[in-house]
Amino acid sequence: MTQIYDRVALIGLGLIASSMFWAMKRNGVAGHVAGYARSAETRDTARRIGLCDTVCDTAIEAVKDADLVVLAVPVGAMGQVAQEIGPHLKPGATLTDVGSVKKQVIEDVAPHVPDTVHFVPAHPLAGTEHSGPESGFATLFDNRWCLIVPSEGSDQGAVDQLGNYWKALGSHIDVMDPDHHDLVLAVTSHCPHLIAYTMVGVADDLRRVTDSEVIKYSAAGFRDFTRIAASDPTMWRDVFLTNKEATLEILGRFTEELFALQRAIRQGDGELLHDYFTRTRAIRRGII
Ligand code: NAD
Repeated sequence: MTQIYDRVALIGLGLIASSMFWAMKRNGVAGHVAGYARSAETRDTARRIGLCDTVCDTAIEAVKDADLVVLAVPVGAMGQVAQEIGPHLKPGATLTDVGSVKKQVIEDVAPHVPDTVHFVPAHPLAGTEHSGPESGFATLFDNRWCLIVPSEGSDQGAVDQLGNYWKALGSHIDVMDPDHHDLVLAVTSHCPHLIAYTMVGVADDLRRVTDSEVIKYSAAGFRDFTRIAASDPTMWRDVFLTNKEATLEILGRFTEELFALQRAIRQGDGELLHDYFTRTRAIRRGII
């Protein structure tokens, strides 16, 4: 049992927040956890399944007296939630978020954080294609990375405490600056999601045109795309709208490579294809 904070408030009760709650309970990381979600239906579900020690009907009530407040809403909603709760945060508390994009979230949230509160943004690199209060589970963060992205002038004690919190939830931690974070995530997560959405969209269009059975007979590669493309539309819409610069940069590079491979296929350039696939295979072998 490693209690890191006495009172924690979770704002937004979806996959990430519910997993944080179950992981906190498993490891005794918080004394008391209050939760709030915008929809009454989500709050009712949370009460029914015992998600959070107290489910509050307002965000203001949830953050009252909290030592750690976690914003776990879609990235496009972070600023508005911060504006609402900002004046009600306890002096000395830490405000963090779990958003998949960091630069824009920091720009949106920071102006609403009182001087007496420590703002320490973070991003757990863990997730599934499921969403909502019933999708969480205690082991989601085990052996996964959580990137801590301190804003300028973040208090070191608050940064260290948040790092210890994520370690107590089962994660490894690293510190990164916001621009670098957004570029790395554009490569490792955001653009792969866009490619999966596109591939599944293409297959669906094809099915309409030819009435072929691409979905029914989908093989492993395509199945993986369909799993990724089943991810929450609101969350992913917000990711692309807020990480515009980095995702456009990576998509530009991606389309250049795709055109090069397209040309190689058209020209029957087997050597280029083979060399390319050999290089990418080595990367996979480096990961596992
Ligand atoms: P989710 O869709 O499962 O849950 C989002 C929750 O926020 C829901 O309870 C929803 O009702 C609530 N919500 C939405 N707008 C709100 C508002 N304005 N005020 C209060 N509550 C509001 O989403 P999730 O997967 O838990 O994602 C939450 C955050 O975590 C996002 O910022 C996302 O970028 C980030 N994240 C997601 C993943 C993933 O793979 N799902 C991984 C890491 C980080």
